[in-house]
Amino acid sequence: MPCTVIVGGFFGDEGKGKIAAYLAMRDKPDICIRGGNGPNAGHTVIHGGVQYSLRLIPSGFVDPSTSLLIGPGVPVDPTVLLDELRKTDSERRIEVDNQCAIVEPRHKEQESRSDHLSKKVGSTKSGVGACNAERALRMVKLAQQIPSLKPYVGDTVGEVQKALSENKKIMIEGTQGTFLSLYHGTYPYVTSKDTTASSACADVGVGPTQVDEVIVIFKAYVTRVGEGPLEGQLDRDEVARRGWTEFGTVTGRERRAAPFDFKLAKRAVQINGATQIALTKLDVLFPTAKGAQHIEDLDKGAKAFISEIEKQTGVPVTLIGTGPKEEDLIDLRTVSRSARIQAAPIVRRN
Ligand code: GDP
Repeated sequence: MPCTVIVGGFFGDEGKGKIAAYLAMRDKPDICIRGGNGPNAGHTVIHGGVQYSLRLIPSGFVDPSTSLLIGPGVPVDPTVLLDELRKTDSERRIEVDNQCAIVEPRHKEQESRSDHLSKKVGSTKSGVGACNAERALRMVKLAQQIPSLKPYVGDTVGEVQKALSENKKIMIEGTQGTFLSLYHGTYPYVTSKDTTASSACADVGVGPTQVDEVIVIFKAYVTRVGEGPLEGQLDRDEVARRGWTEFGTVTGRERRAAPFDFKLAKRAVQINGATQIALTKLDVLFPTAKGAQHIEDLDKGAKAFISEIEKQTGVPVTLIGTGPKEEDLIDLRTVSRSARIQAAPIVRRN
């Protein structure tokens, strides 16, 4: 912290929910604020034995003392939001920016009617693209106009700026992944806005010089849901054989999969200005890593893989996911680089 941005480095589904939840529990941010796109994104958080699939609420909700904000750049579907507020019992600490665009049922209908979006692009049909398009035309409704949101609406940008001036801890959560960006992704097989760290900051009204850390999240292999190119894509049987079969959080669609892509990773690190990498699902690639909480518990192959990522991207891997639960994680943020990479048996963490 004090001001940390977290974003996906590939095509989404990298495990941002789990990393955000871990950071929230560990670092106790004063504010978790959601940037990124709207409820077309889904994040999975497993906390206290319960699995949450979140589409709007920041994944940092797991820390009960954190204020939960949704920045003005995020399209909000009131039905989804109110449902999540109930499920997470967060009505008393949520604030939605009065300038958030509102996703309406007709936006979903528009997307369902569009063959281009449904069939070609592989849209989630959550109405978010149509809502963003309408916002660009300056015709969309804003959160301040919606009676059901009245108790929750406010000036989130003012809140964040006040917190920054008081040197409080802030976590900004992006959505989806770098290569689903409208600008940097595999157009037209992309989402309806930019998804990089710069936009996540703009979404919440934080300037580039106000950010201390950018954590880009990669999964140990690459998955992609919907249409669009995926370099090195494996056939379904091979994906199943490797234990990489996954289904989308929002759509339930089966994800396509490919091995870790170092070239894409390097580009994602550059575009996001990443200062750290979080690597998830190392346990899926290296089963001996399952549940590990210390670097010395990893075998040679797993360590070599991490070293290679650091070598090729030039950025340290500081968080390593070793299972779906919040505590299945190796946190190397305070360990020096040389200690991390070479001398695993010497590194002792308590
Ligand atoms: P997100 O949108 O980036 O949050 O990704 P998903 O919602 O698709 O979540 C990824 C899935 O992987 C969820 O079911 C998580 O619980 C799970 N997960 C996250 N990190 C790890 C990890 O390090 N290991 C394992 N085995 N599962 C993980």
